Amino acid sequence: MIAENAKNIKKIIDSANVTIVTVTKTQSIERIREAVNAGLTVLGENRVQEAAEKIGPLADLPVEWHLIGHLQTNKVKQAVAMFSLIQSVDSLKLALEINRQAAAANKQQDILLQINVAGEASKFGIAPSQASIVAAELFALPNIRLCGIMTIAPFFDQAKDTRPVFRQAREIFERLNKELGRPEYFNRLSMGMTHDYLVALEEGSNMVRIGSGIFGERQTR
Ligand SMILES: *Cc1c(COP(=O)(O)O)cnc(C)c1O
Repeated sequence: MIAENAKNIKKIIDSANVTIVTVTKTQSIERIREAVNAGLTVLGENRVQEAAEKIGPLADLPVEWHLIGHLQTNKVKQAVAMFSLIQSVDSLKLALEINRQAAAANKQQDILLQINVAGEASKFGIAPSQASIVAAELFALPNIRLCGIMTIAPFFDQAKDTRPVFRQAREIFERLNKELGRPEYFNRLSMGMTHDYLVALEEGSNMVRIGSGIFGERQTR
């Protein structure tokens, strides 16, 4: 089942030059291997600790890891050592610490700025009205590279109801892209999950984060 799901989703998305981030939270090493063997090589975790437990046992595979969940400043050092892209940068304070730890590790850390487009109290991310100011500050930090934005849409029973949120995210993305003037690397728009990724793609997403669409419903560990 995993291989077939992976194949179907990959086929649709390869044609659009979109990155599939395979969300591996709660999944076993064996099940993750099955997805990677089916061609999914960008893996996403939302906790540093859980990622740390998986990266070693999967080190023989040609994969890269993204962080997609909230990052606490005391875990930044570990995160910088593990992730090729930190998608969930949700404050200037966090970005400053990533910049500091990346400098210490002699690395330039790729990040996305997480935007809370719908203003949900339950979600992390900066407000759309703050996006330009924060993005400009991040751009000035030498050891991080701001590569785009990430957003998590509210859950609607009808995925199409998500469209206005994705459209607004796309507008913010394009505005920042112009303001920052570095389209050669500020070019990632991470939005869309299993339930709503088709709508996100229609609205211009080029990075989708999919868990249950590949692995089936999540079992709690
Ligand atoms: C869990 C998670 C996903 C994947 O969710 P699915 O509905 O299983 O596809 C995507 N993005 C984030 C930030 C997540 O935490």
